Amino acid sequence: MDTKKTIQTLERLVAFDTVSSNSNIELIDWSANRLEAAGAKVFVQHADEPGKANLFATIGPQDVPGIMLSGHSDVVPVAGQAWSSDPFTLTERNGSLYARGSADMKGFIACCLDMAPRFASAKLAMPVHIALSYNEETNMRGMRQLAAHLKAAPVRPLACVIGEPTMMQVVVANKGAAIYRARIRGFSVHSSLRDQGVSAVEVGAQIVTHIVALQRRLEGAERHDGFEYPFTSVHAGMMSGGTAHNITARDCEVLFEVRALPGVSAAQVVAQIRQFCERELLPPMRKVSPECSITVEEVLDAPGLDERGNRNLAQAMMPLCNCAQPGRVSFGTEAGMLQEIGVPTVVCGPGAIKVAHQPDEYVEISQLGLCLDFLESLTVGMERGTLGALASSAGAG
Ligand SMILES: [Zn+2]
Repeated sequence: MDTKKTIQTLERLVAFDTVSSNSNIELIDWSANRLEAAGAKVFVQHADEPGKANLFATIGPQDVPGIMLSGHSDVVPVAGQAWSSDPFTLTERNGSLYARGSADMKGFIACCLDMAPRFASAKLAMPVHIALSYNEETNMRGMRQLAAHLKAAPVRPLACVIGEPTMMQVVVANKGAAIYRARIRGFSVHSSLRDQGVSAVEVGAQIVTHIVALQRRLEGAERHDGFEYPFTSVHAGMMSGGTAHNITARDCEVLFEVRALPGVSAAQVVAQIRQFCERELLPPMRKVSPECSITVEEVLDAPGLDERGNRNLAQAMMPLCNCAQPGRVSFGTEAGMLQEIGVPTVVCGPGAIKVAHQPDEYVEISQLGLCLDFLESLTVGMERGTLGALASSAGAG
């Protein structure tokens, strides 16, 4: 299909600097206007957090379940990255379009917005929904809020396709993404008197060591060969604390993540870390000072996508994008949250995940073409009712 117009739409979308710490309202308003002009009924769901909103548009009948196409509007930061061209100006080189968010995931959003008039003019018995969320790259609160709304709505979407970059292959499973922060409160003394103090940094290091040992144990537990790294993973990514070499550190923080296999609970993995803190680390700390403490708080817990919940949807979608083999990915997506509310979901979108979050992120123009072809095939399938099997079997198998 002709990608010229989609490239222009993408050019506009990447010009909105929607790094997660910024507002996404301008992008949402601009998209809402475009969709309304195409005949969509648009619901803008504002967040408690100022400057943030989701968008949920319906094209076609309002009172029957439809197919939801979903993308996140935010992008990861560019700070500290060496870009060959301005990250917020779409730049074409050798058949690829470079900009922050070109692959992850404004390319998919551009395709959906451009297809809106086509969806509107098709004789569809069921609607197409276009959803845009906020904060996917940070705490996934946008989709949490939207999923809560959809759960309570009189009709819930029949199925959803999330357009994260998969090179237009259907992904049926992804690992969960959970982030936790351990805060350690030690006791400060001059380090020459170290037996009278507690170094929070040293306690933090023991937590990190425990995480490494826990990872080894997880490699002996449940295995799923569909994933590149076939185990649940736990990883300490950041640690900070202390003020001087000769003061026992009062504070330390460890930020760690759990990427659980679908069906495995991140909370259970974290329970082992909490238990270690309470049984092994805290008692000797408290002997030195009752002020000492360790807290482990959840920053985010997004469930994985379990392929046992989307078989029929995957079978309906795979022929539409010439996908022979369903895929599994290790990165977290919003899909599990929709599956949790009974909306079967797969992931399929233009571009490659390996260029996402990187300097010189790009999407091939040919990928946008394949995405438009997929959306056109989806429209034809809906017109002809050949996706009907999907309707009668939503959520099953
Ligand atoms: Zn993404």
